[in-house]
Formats: sequence, C-alpha cells, structure tokens
Amino acid sequence: MSPERIKLAIQKSGRLTDQSLELVTRCGLKYSRGKDQLVCYGENLPLDILLVRDDDIPGLVQDDVCDLGIVGLNVIEEKRLEFAARATAPPFEQVMTLDFGRCRLALAVPEEFDYGGPAALRGRRIATSYPRILGRWLATRGLEADIVALSGAVEIAPRLGRADLICDLVSSGSTLAANRLREVETVLDSQAALIRTPVPVSSAKREWMERLLVRMDGVQQVRESKYIMLHAPRAALPRITALLPGSEHPTILPLEGTDEKVALHAVCRENVFWETLESLKAAGASAILVLPVEKMLA
Ligand code: ATP
Ligand code: ZN
Repeated sequence: MSPERIKLAIQKSGRLTDQSLELVTRCGLKYSRGKDQLVCYGENLPLDILLVRDDDIPGLVQDDVCDLGIVGLNVIEEKRLEFAARATAPPFEQVMTLDFGRCRLALAVPEEFDYGGPAALRGRRIATSYPRILGRWLATRGLEADIVALSGAVEIAPRLGRADLICDLVSSGSTLAANRLREVETVLDSQAALIRTPVPVSSAKREWMERLLVRMDGVQQVRESKYIMLHAPRAALPRITALLPGSEHPTILPLEGTDEKVALHAVCRENVFWETLESLKAAGASAILVLPVEKMLA
C-alpha cells in the first residue's frame, strides 16, 4: 500500500461492518477485497480499507498505521479516559459522529435485585468492559463501587457469582432479558464515529481526506432528507412552510394559468411522514410529491 493512499480502519466482522462499508460505497468508492480478506483496495479513489477488530481501531489511528477509523463512541471514550489518566492528549481526533451503531452503555441488575436508585450501587461489584467510563460515572455521583473489569461475557458475570450487576452495551435489551437482567441506568449514549490521526499528512493526501470527509458529511445529511414538491394557495404558504420538517428556504414557482396558486419545492432535512402529508393537505396543499435525495453538496 502506497503511503500516498488514505488508509481507513473499520470493523472486520461485527455490528459496525456493513454500515461502515455502505458509507464508503456511498462516498463513491469502488473496491476489491484482498485474498486475505484483511484489506479492501480502492479502485477509483486513493483510499484503502483495513478490516480489523473494533478495539484495535483507535490504536491503529494513533500509531499512524491508519489515517482514519470508524468505531463506536464507547470505545473512543474509554480510550480517551485512558490517556486522560496519564495526563496526555489522545493521539486521535474525533471528526464526526455517524448515524449508525446506536446503543447505550447501561447498568443492568439481576431481576431479583432491589434497585431504588444509584445509592443502591454503593459497595457493589459491577462487571464491565468499560471500567474508565463507569468509574467516571460513579465518581461524578460520589459513589464508590467495586469495578470488575472483564474483556467479554459480561452479561453472565452475575450468574457466575463474579459480580452483583453489570454495565454493558445494550440496544434492544433482548440479550439482557435472556440473561434475566433489567436495565436501570444509562451511563453513556453511543453511536459510530469517525476518528483521524492528528499527524500531518502530505498535501495531496490531505486534499483527498478533506474531500472524503465532505462526502461523508453529505451522505449523512441525505439519509433522512426528502425533496418535497406541492401546489398551494399563496395565502396558505406560511402555514405550509411551518409544517415542513427542517426545510429552510423553499423555492416558490408560479403556476401557468393561475395567480392564486403556486408550486413549492423544498428539501426537508428530516423524514416526511404520512401525518405531515395529511396536515399539508388539510392546510390547502395539493399534488404533493415526496422524493428521496440521492446526493447533496452544501
Ligand atoms: P470485535 O470482534 O470487532 O472486537 P465486538 O464483539 O467488540 O467485535 P460488536 O458486538 O460487533 O463488537 O460491537 C461493535 C460496536 O457496535 C460496539 O462497540 C458498539 O459501539 C456498537 N453496538 C451497537 N449496538 C450494540 C449492541 N447492542 N451491543 C454491543 N455493541 C453494539
Ligand atoms: Zn470489540
């Protein structure tokens, strides 16, 4: 791999993999996967992808092996606190959050645990893979508990008698239920994020990196965006524009053969639901069309 090519680290196989690859595809990258399945070689952009374990991503970015990485805020925050404990700045920068990989780091207790509030945690043994994030959460509440740091299988720790409760990642809660655990507190809200190395890169590479970041931002913005077109009486325009979610400056166009009615076109930054269409109709709009937005460049 040439040093002039951008290297992006993503999770090899897990919850972030598909959407990370989809993001780079939507940024225009065509790639072929290497024989060893560890690298995807970009064919039309100077960008290659390294497929690794998610926990290794901040380290690869930090050591300058990779320029960019996509990883959960939970992993980023735990690493950040690790560096803060040594009074050094983390050797990676968070560029932007990405709208996938949503989950939360939560405290969960066995069903029979009598949880009346955070004070019930005093002196308890809490199993987690995120000892620093949990430690900070407890400290800001003036609580002292025994943090049992485990690298995996956290949810079975109470049953094995290794802990009284756990602090683990949850999205739907079905894993907790299967282990007869009940979620009681959110410690951190998480989602995927893009990190980059703070090490200066050549200007050619920097230029491509900037272009890639603008494209990623564009992909993020269009995901929920819709283009809406409708006809409306002039008098109803204030009411109608107030109903359009996240639209700033609609375009108003004349309609042939009438002065009373106009056409309105607008980009809505949020999804447009049936309820909104019904309200628009009730406000006087007709011929309403909602189209998906494919690409956007501000
Ligand atoms: P690896 O082999 O790469 O270390 P892993 O077991 O650590 O895999 P996954 O379970 O695939 O990783 O989770 C990767 C990331 O996905 C998490 O760090 C988190 O940011 C996010 N995530 C989203 N929802 C959940 C969930 N319900 N449970 C765990 N992680 C989730
Ligand atoms: Zn992992």
